[in-house]
Amino acid sequence: HADAAMYHAKALGRNNYQFFDQGMNQAAARRFELESNLRGALLRSEFELHYQPIICTATRRLHALEVLLRWRRRSEGGAGGADANTVLVGPDEFIPILEENGMIVPVGEWVIRTACEQSMAWQRQGLPAVPLAINLSARQFMHDGLVESIRRIVGETGIDPALVEFEITETALMQHGGQTLDTLRQINDMGMRLSIDDFGTGYSSLAYLKRFPVRKIKIDRAFVRELEASSEDRAIVAAVMALANSLQLSVVAEGVETEGQYQLLGGQGCQLAQGYLFARPLPAGEAARLLRGSALQQGA
Ligand code: C2E
Ligand code: MG
Ligand code: MG
Ligand code: MG
Repeated sequence: HADAAMYHAKALGRNNYQFFDQGMNQAAARRFELESNLRGALLRSEFELHYQPIICTATRRLHALEVLLRWRRRSEGGAGGADANTVLVGPDEFIPILEENGMIVPVGEWVIRTACEQSMAWQRQGLPAVPLAINLSARQFMHDGLVESIRRIVGETGIDPALVEFEITETALMQHGGQTLDTLRQINDMGMRLSIDDFGTGYSSLAYLKRFPVRKIKIDRAFVRELEASSEDRAIVAAVMALANSLQLSVVAEGVETEGQYQLLGGQGCQLAQGYLFARPLPAGEAARLLRGSALQQGA
């Protein structure tokens, strides 16, 4: 919270508007505007979490929920106030900016805390305790305070660490260098699981799968998209499945959109899947309804 306040103070002190007069190009101006708006977003409570089901391919039942960050931003013409118009901005548009200016650290901490609080609130309402998969970015992972902040959040919210899983990309792991193993072990020792996100797209050495306490890999959507038409993609998925089986890792296929993809993945022994075929990322209220037992409907 101190971090967030500091970023806010910085934003207020930044009166560099003359930049615009001096012919800054439009893209840069838009980016500058986005960044200034982002700086106060945490204090204005403009971030929210959506939850996307990860299902067991064999049963089509809910296995976990991936936590996905959204920014509910007041739209250009919005008058302000409670009924202001808002637009929902996706993370691909703002996470890179948060990574660059360091705000990913307090925002990422907010994500972990809010997800854990949500899980506890659902459990108090008598809903089933479902594991949450939370994304960690490279810079957040490199930050010295990460393990301590996770420990604090677990203590303060009372969440069962077994219900928390962190997703991290290969590229982020490789950037971290010597401390990586230490950080991963500490998270693992707290009883939380780790999975490799966007598997197959990063710059990586497969050796890390042996060295790091990783339980799960998520096959990137890039290999799932053309699975039906591409024998190369089928070969890649088969190779990943063989590797995962021999290392005893479970596998999630990302971006499953068609029944055909789903059948092929099941046939290759992929136990878990996530994608629009089963459900889109859902706001908390809809996720709660899903937890309450409404069956997952195809194409929902
Ligand atoms: P990711 O972790 O690989 O998340 C999966 C992305 O694929 C999500 O995009 C999800 O909405 C999208 N997706 C799921 N199923 C389908 C499908 O069937 N078809 C297609 N076309 N897309 C599908 P989203 O929510 O836009 O998130 C994008 C990325 O932003 C995430 O990729 C993750 O890397 C990052 N991100 C999201 N939330 C957070 C967060 O809280 N912290 C950090 N550090 N990164 C986050
Ligand atoms: Mg992810
Ligand atoms: Mg992914
Ligand atoms: Mg991704």
